[in-house]
Amino acid sequence: MRICILASGSKGNCTYIESENSKILIDAGLSKKEIENRLSLIKVSPADIDAILVTHEHSDHIKGLERFSNFYKCKVYGHRDSFSMIEEKCSLIPLSQQVEFCSNDFNIKDLTISPFDLDHDSSHCVGFSVMENGKKFTIATDLGHMTPEIEKRLKTSDFIVLESNHDIQTLKNNPNYSYSLKQRILSKYGHISNDECSNTILNLIGHKTRGIMLAHLSEQNNSKELAINEINKKLIKNNIKAEDFNMYVGVATQNNVSNIFKIK
Ligand SMILES: [Zn+2]
Ligand SMILES: [Zn+2]
Repeated sequence: MRICILASGSKGNCTYIESENSKILIDAGLSKKEIENRLSLIKVSPADIDAILVTHEHSDHIKGLERFSNFYKCKVYGHRDSFSMIEEKCSLIPLSQQVEFCSNDFNIKDLTISPFDLDHDSSHCVGFSVMENGKKFTIATDLGHMTPEIEKRLKTSDFIVLESNHDIQTLKNNPNYSYSLKQRILSKYGHISNDECSNTILNLIGHKTRGIMLAHLSEQNNSKELAINEINKKLIKNNIKAEDFNMYVGVATQNNVSNIFKIK
């Protein structure tokens, strides 16, 4: 399986996953043109995309959904409880292209997709595990808080994309954010902080995970350095040596496509 994060952050999210026989996107939060541009950077034809899996209806996840899926006639997979909101916000996905899922696993060609619920302030929000040949990739962003169930899923994944949205103090000090917006982000239905993300990463040590991309970083309330420093601080505090921390950690960004990660 090959994975590339085409964009991540509050201005648009889109992740590309490819197996031997399938090419899918998770979310289409960039314009159609920008998705095409970014796919071309990794030499993928947009016409080859089989399906788009949608996590939830916030615009940073569906901005280009209608135009891209209508143009390329790819299937759109959405949770049963969020499809009406997805349609309300971006409308007009032909019925023949809509595929609803619930909590059960489903297949797209040679990929098995396992959706799981996330607490977030949308009609319904999910993360996905994507499996091929015993290898597992999991993406969990836009979650208000970590739960033991999600953590268990991350521990059994080879590669993960995990939200590290904000530095708590930077957010609290941000004069551009209203009190209510800060409360929304910090709540159990908002986004997880660098602190919560790094605590989760510590719990993954010794398990299956070998690669992590930190994702959905806030432009105003976070930076690559703050997110990575938080992990390093926790490693030192817990006396964890570099050789015991056997994981690649990278940061996904808004404006650039990530490396292409291969898990096999
Ligand atoms: Zn959201
Ligand atoms: Zn989002």
